[in-house]
Amino acid sequence: MIPKSHPRYESLITREKLVEGFREGIVVPEGLIAHGRGEAFDYIFGEKTRDFALEAEKAAVAAMLLSEKPVISVNGNAAALVAERLSELSEILKAPLEVNVFHWSRERVEKIAKWLMSKGCKNVLYAGDAEIEGIEHLRRIVDSRGILVADTVMVMLEDGDRCEILRRHGKRVIAIDLNPLSRTAKMADITIVNNVVRAIPEMIEIAKEFTKKDEEFLKSLLENYDNREVLSRALNAIASYFKPND
Ligand code: ATP
Ligand code: MG
Repeated sequence: MIPKSHPRYESLITREKLVEGFREGIVVPEGLIAHGRGEAFDYIFGEKTRDFALEAEKAAVAAMLLSEKPVISVNGNAAALVAERLSELSEILKAPLEVNVFHWSRERVEKIAKWLMSKGCKNVLYAGDAEIEGIEHLRRIVDSRGILVADTVMVMLEDGDRCEILRRHGKRVIAIDLNPLSRTAKMADITIVNNVVRAIPEMIEIAKEFTKKDEEFLKSLLENYDNREVLSRALNAIASYFKPND
């Protein structure tokens, strides 16, 4: 038991969830390593949502609501950390959750899909009946009703290679990635530099508000959004963390 008074309670709970996911066969050992890299950045950002992340989250929700066929791509870590909240977001945005993993096996994909369904998701895609051309690793395997035909794909803890290919296939890519220097972060149309455990719940609240707005509001928000500027603000935040206090 981790006491609630522990100064890094949230971070430790997050680790526990991943370890549990690992024991369940949802998270792979490589996922634990990826989380460690994310944590290092989160530490620097103060383990809180920064203004550049919030701005990207708003643009992302607007983009998803304006899309014809939005899809949320979910891997093992995301499922272990925020399955319930992803299910909620999926419902509000009317976007299915598609299980898409780097370390693919039919068994693992089914486990993740069942896990998401047990957490309340009514729209989970995991057929693995199509392939995205141009990707060599197993993340190419997709669902013919989901990522294959989607116009906007939201990814988290994504690999840079696939992000690039999704873009090349003309899809709009929204990425949640704590590392603003990763290829994924640089390739995406909208990069949310935040921890998924904060970004997803915040996006639910934004979506609740934005579903009441008209299309013009959403369009102008998206038009005025500048991902390069958002990324450079994230880099500046890192730089100022390392500046000595005077
Ligand atoms: P790329 O392939 O895009 O260059 P990478 O090879 O450095 O990235 P991957 O293992 O492919 O990293 O992807 C994992 C990414 O997810 C890392 O950039 C890491 O910072 C990020 N990440 C890990 N945990 C979280 C989390 N909880 N929330 C958001 N991002 C996270
Ligand atoms: Mg990678």
